[in-house]
Amino acid sequence: MKTALVTGSNRGIGLEIARQLAESGFQVIVSGRNQKSVEEAASSLGKENRKVVPLTMDVSDIRSIRRGVELTARQISHLYVLVNNAGILLDESKSLLKASPETVHATLNTNALGPLFVTIEFLPLLGKGSRVINVSSGSGEIGTGMSAYAPIYSISKTALNAVTCQLSHALRGKGIAVNAMCPGWVRTSMGGMMASRSVKKGAETAVWLAPEAPIGETGKFSLNKRLIPC
Ligand code: NDP
Repeated sequence: MKTALVTGSNRGIGLEIARQLAESGFQVIVSGRNQKSVEEAASSLGKENRKVVPLTMDVSDIRSIRRGVELTARQISHLYVLVNNAGILLDESKSLLKASPETVHATLNTNALGPLFVTIEFLPLLGKGSRVINVSSGSGEIGTGMSAYAPIYSISKTALNAVTCQLSHALRGKGIAVNAMCPGWVRTSMGGMMASRSVKKGAETAVWLAPEAPIGETGKFSLNKRLIPC
């Protein structure tokens, strides 16, 4: 059975990605920073004989990531899919000029450096044919006229797109594909209830990238199951 790890999957889009992957036959590692919430999410997904493993891991903390690798390696020898989904939005409608160092560091550590370090640390469990999927955002795109709605969040997602490209170069020789995707504007606690997409729709492109997208495609950005350069 193929195994997928989804970070930040105790709720929101990550939980739905985990659900859809489990439904399509993956063993899924449900992960997040709060143990109780992770265990509850894993047990809700684990019904109907699906294979679900809980993992408490904070992607902004390198010690927690290394502990996560250790715990995972005790149970699983190979990860077919790694979805770097965990993310935070702390500066909605705030001015860049008033950004606190705490907000900047927390946002970059979670949204951009988290996926980088999670991928590097989990490399011993990844191998030829594995796929890394980074949940990014259209708000990180530079060429299309970036909005000032959440400036630090946007900067972190631009950085995540760069992390995606650089990891794709570094891992191409190992046969590991690394792509980023945007879920669209999704009704979660981050996206708010006015958002246009359901979590089901928001999860679709990540789930498509997991088993179906061509393995030769790497270093790309995708929206609505369509791959474009980062
Ligand atoms: P939610 O706020 O609903 O969920 C975020 C998830 O990330 C939670 O499980 C949260 O866990 C987890 N998380 C946050 N920080 C960490 C951390 N340091 N370590 C581990 N887990 C962490 O957000 P969404 O589901 O809406 O967003 C998921 C992804 O999609 C994010 O990367 C986001 O940027 C991206 N996205 C979302 C859009 C939207 O419209 N919703 C649009 C574009 C992109 P906890 O319960 O502990 O907080």
